[in-house]
Amino acid sequence: MNSLTPSFSPDCLASLWNELDRQSFPEGALYVVATPIGNVGDISLRAIRVLSLADAIACEDTRNTGQLMARLGLSKPLFSAHQHNERETAQKIIERLHAGARIALVSDAGTPAVSDPGARIVDAVIGAGLKVIPVAGPSAAIAALSVSGLLSEQFYFVGFMPAKSSQREQLLSGLVSSTANLVFYEAPHRIIEAAQSLLTILGPERRIVIAREISKLFEQVHRCRLAEAPDWLSAEANHQRGEFVLVVEGQSAANEQPLSDARHVLQTLLEELPVSQAAALAAKITGMKKNTLYQLALELRPQDLAD
Ligand code: SAM
Repeated sequence: MNSLTPSFSPDCLASLWNELDRQSFPEGALYVVATPIGNVGDISLRAIRVLSLADAIACEDTRNTGQLMARLGLSKPLFSAHQHNERETAQKIIERLHAGARIALVSDAGTPAVSDPGARIVDAVIGAGLKVIPVAGPSAAIAALSVSGLLSEQFYFVGFMPAKSSQREQLLSGLVSSTANLVFYEAPHRIIEAAQSLLTILGPERRIVIAREISKLFEQVHRCRLAEAPDWLSAEANHQRGEFVLVVEGQSAANEQPLSDARHVLQTLLEELPVSQAAALAAKITGMKKNTLYQLALELRPQDLAD
């Protein structure tokens, strides 16, 4: 037997499949089904069972879900449920549920309603007094957290940050004192800017886990300090490709000290000097990067944007 041969038997799979039906799959319910975030093998047996039982599937994109269904050898009526038609679609789903249908709700990848459409539909179905059933499975945030090695028991799911750096940095300023690990989704074309904002606002010392292309061919998990993250991302074109989750360590006495020292130095210098000079001098005193301190100085004294 070579190492790629599955070491469990088809009988085992059949018995697992039979066990699924120990739980009932009631009619007139909405099933919120998680789908793979990369490797199709991440789909759960329960997800396959629900998709095979569903009378119809509400999809973020019917083409993507059509491909998944083809891989599973299933054929079901698909209709679209994306962020621009959620309200109308919810009504259509509610009517079908009242008539006794089982409807599955899926997004393009991962868990619906997690930085994906679905929450409005779920809310409307609950409001109509109907049942909503989770079919748990992949989510990029949880996968990245699970390999982060960051010890806080708590995490704060931020999802996507705003595209504008001023808005991003305002959002991050409100999270500086959170001791929970922070979890972000980010697009490849903004990944360096996002890392730069994290460094500017959260300081150089915190650990960051950059999880790229989870469960895909080029999966990569890089761990470093925030001070090193922009340079690591810029170092190779491949480091900026694909889908990303960033997990940043929450505030602790150990990682906050250099930033609060720098903040104090900057605040003192800003009483006497313009922003760029204060940042340059603070960089000499603290050993931190001038650009990081310049951004921090702008946070502290935003009226000096043009000096
Ligand atoms: N609902 C999905 C979930 O449960 O993970 C998230 C959907 S959101 C529109 C897509 C974002 O999730 C991507 O831009 C990326 O930040 C993250 N993501 C999705 N798949 C990923 C993967 N395989 N590796 C890393 N990040 C991923």
